[in-house]
Amino acid sequence: MALTGLEIFKLLPKSNCKKCGKPTCLAFAMALAQKKAKLEECPDASEEAKSALAEASAPPISLVKFGKGDGEVQVGQETVMFRHDETFYNPTVIAVSVSDKLAGDALKERIECINSLQFERVGTHLQVNAVAVINESGSADTFASAAETVKKASPLAMILVSDSPGALAAAVSKVSDVRPLLASATSETAQEVAKTAKENNCPVVAQAESVEASAELTEKIKAAGVEDIVLSLKAPSTKDELYGLSEIRAVALKKTFRPLGCPTISFVLEGSAEDQSAKAISLICKYGSIVVVETVERYAILPMLTTVMNIYTDPQKPVQVEAKVYEVGEPNAESPLLMTTNFSLTYYTVESDAEASRVPCYILVVDTEGTSVLTAYSGDKLNEKVVAEAMKKSEVEGLVKHRKLIIPGYVAVMSGKLEEETGWEIAVGPRESSMLPKYLQEVA
Ligand code: SF4
Repeated sequence: MALTGLEIFKLLPKSNCKKCGKPTCLAFAMALAQKKAKLEECPDASEEAKSALAEASAPPISLVKFGKGDGEVQVGQETVMFRHDETFYNPTVIAVSVSDKLAGDALKERIECINSLQFERVGTHLQVNAVAVINESGSADTFASAAETVKKASPLAMILVSDSPGALAAAVSKVSDVRPLLASATSETAQEVAKTAKENNCPVVAQAESVEASAELTEKIKAAGVEDIVLSLKAPSTKDELYGLSEIRAVALKKTFRPLGCPTISFVLEGSAEDQSAKAISLICKYGSIVVVETVERYAILPMLTTVMNIYTDPQKPVQVEAKVYEVGEPNAESPLLMTTNFSLTYYTVESDAEASRVPCYILVVDTEGTSVLTAYSGDKLNEKVVAEAMKKSEVEGLVKHRKLIIPGYVAVMSGKLEEETGWEIAVGPRESSMLPKYLQEVA
């Protein structure tokens, strides 16, 4: 919990020496409380003050990283219960399981299939982030060998899942250089798994059956020298798990209760692809930092990734595309020129409908701070001056020989003023972009 100015003042030397640039220690303490100064600016601060302030300013939910290089992922360090309060920062990691019962070509095919779970959606690349190797064989050697194969065949981050501390130690000895997440330590195996995690500098999952037991377990693991901990709640149902995860988030943030200030991991390894997708999405929303699924069905994975994308965007900043002229197909100087706004969803809808028409064209995207056509128009972010300026900046005069701009049907009302402002003929396109293919085929 953040310290008040007076609490900080009690920790300072109180000599008012002014070396920090402030007239008194109290003034410096107030500046520190408001995050307008740094403790290093007081050369005489005691070790006690340093550690108390470091403890107080540490994030309520720790940041945990695993994986290596481009495959590295990070989870945790969230600061709010609800996305609209500020934003969520580190997107849920979606992991897909690989059983160590698979071997040879079957194992390689499964890994390739996971690697290929990549998608493009409204201009954003989405993909699965991790592979969870599961020790179903019961053999430490087989588990270690499967982990080694995954390391060689996948650039994704790795999670090693076994109840056996010995199997985890055997597997991590083969793949410690990619810093896997070790799952899991329980109250019975905490010492042994924590020892392996510490020796290999890997984060570890603490698995318990209740929120209270989770808090006790993380303290045990920390006492064994491991700070990077991810919580796994072994609940009897998804409903119980969701309640538990919500309680963990609330206690960590509102009470700054450090033993529960950790990211979480959930396993959804059973049920149909649809069931797994539905459960995973619930967990992504409340408050799964890592969700491991078994399905590799693309239709089940895409909704999960889309949910992550949607709730981990900053609600204050709409997803935008760059304001410029885009080409659809291979347009020439005779091709139609359309106009729309830079709200990502608007642009990609227009682009895909224009593409469906098979009529090559240009799309002039106007900067409306990421708002859609009607919202931009009603907020005066889309008017004749803004469009004229965008046309000038994008040098559309040099792109096409004709002087005709097609505007969205919803802003037909601005056509007169726009004609006066630009001297161009303004054609009013359809209201709904789904009508664009027919419209473009008729005007082309
Ligand atoms: Fe007080 Fe430290 Fe600032 Fe001196 S440098 S006035 S001791 S806070």
